[in-house]
Amino acid sequence: MSFKVLEGVNTQEDGLGMIRNILNLIEISDQSYPNNKTNSLQYFNTHQNKLLNLFLGKVNQKDYPISLYTPKRLKIALDKYEKNRSKKDLLLEVISRFYYDSCNQGKYLILDYPPLLQIEIASRCNYKCVFCYQSDESFTEKDSKYMGFMDIDLFKMLIDQIEGNIPYITFASRGEPTLNPNFIEMLEYCKGKFLDIKLNTNASTLNKQKINSIIDVCDTVVFSIDTPNPDHYPNIRVGGNLENVLKNIRLFNKLRSEHPRGRKINTRASGVLFNESIQSEKDYKRTFAPLFDQTAFVKYNPWEKIYTLPKNDIKAACHQPFYRFFIWFDGSYNCCDMDYKSLLSEGCNMISKDYTVKDAWSSKRMQKIRNLHQSGERGRLTPCKQCPISS
Ligand code: SF4
Ligand code: SF4
Repeated sequence: MSFKVLEGVNTQEDGLGMIRNILNLIEISDQSYPNNKTNSLQYFNTHQNKLLNLFLGKVNQKDYPISLYTPKRLKIALDKYEKNRSKKDLLLEVISRFYYDSCNQGKYLILDYPPLLQIEIASRCNYKCVFCYQSDESFTEKDSKYMGFMDIDLFKMLIDQIEGNIPYITFASRGEPTLNPNFIEMLEYCKGKFLDIKLNTNASTLNKQKINSIIDVCDTVVFSIDTPNPDHYPNIRVGGNLENVLKNIRLFNKLRSEHPRGRKINTRASGVLFNESIQSEKDYKRTFAPLFDQTAFVKYNPWEKIYTLPKNDIKAACHQPFYRFFIWFDGSYNCCDMDYKSLLSEGCNMISKDYTVKDAWSSKRMQKIRNLHQSGERGRLTPCKQCPISS
């Protein structure tokens, strides 16, 4: 394992050294906890305390699979600590990353809440990208039960249920979040309640008001864009117009440069390498690197045809049911969005005041899915039996 994002952090040993330095900085060790709590640590809740104890044990055993991105996240948390001196916030970031990294890399921890929640405030989209489930007409047809926007009351109830227990949320899933008529009110309701609020957007509907709200609330903004070529763009992002998107991105960057919170957020261009004859990573980076803090070009997965793929022989567990959880626009849920028609959670309860995100995450159905994956029996699940994802 190597870390390319921070100088001087090249091995897992270095990463663990960085964690130990942080623990020394905030004066905590497995011996000193919980008898020598600092004031801020007294405010940890039951879930966070369970996680902290697991974390300290694993770090002691050097059994923490730190991911490539974690040192950068910790560096950001350390910079914040320099300013606000909150030991609680710094330690929360450390243990939250530990939980996410462990589940994301196959060292599964089963706790009452997921490491990350994806909230689908819109399953509708104004595009029909060639690789997306939006291109499946049986998913998007008129009167489709899969299409809709999350209601503001349901959204607020979800946020109230998870605040303090789930540190990372992402506004994204099967549609374009900025289309929700209450998008700005939803963002504002989340302000200051999470360690990281991420938004994925195709940038087509951004305007001054939406952009200022995004900068005011979000920590990470991912712009989905696959090619700098205006002729090829609408062939991949069907329904889109590159010129309009670039105009909105330039407006975003201008408003960001004027906003007091502008330097606190991280932007990323994220593209799907769908057709090598018309897309190249070199062109992509050359055009987009100056516009964003980071660029990423991901491999195409057959998202749009998962239900028609033949059964495969993959036995390895997929990490998706362990490291994140999806709440759809109508309050139903699933453990991944590859299964965009939710066969895995068909017939399960909807989230309500009596059936919470915690209940859904720990439900018998979700436990069964995780057990089958861990025991090499994913072939008993549809669509896992035909899905190419094994990480
Ligand atoms: S990939 Fe994103 S922008 Fe494209 S159709 Fe799907 S949800 Fe919409
Ligand atoms: S194997 Fe595929 S369908 Fe199954 S949980 Fe993982 S991503 Fe979802």
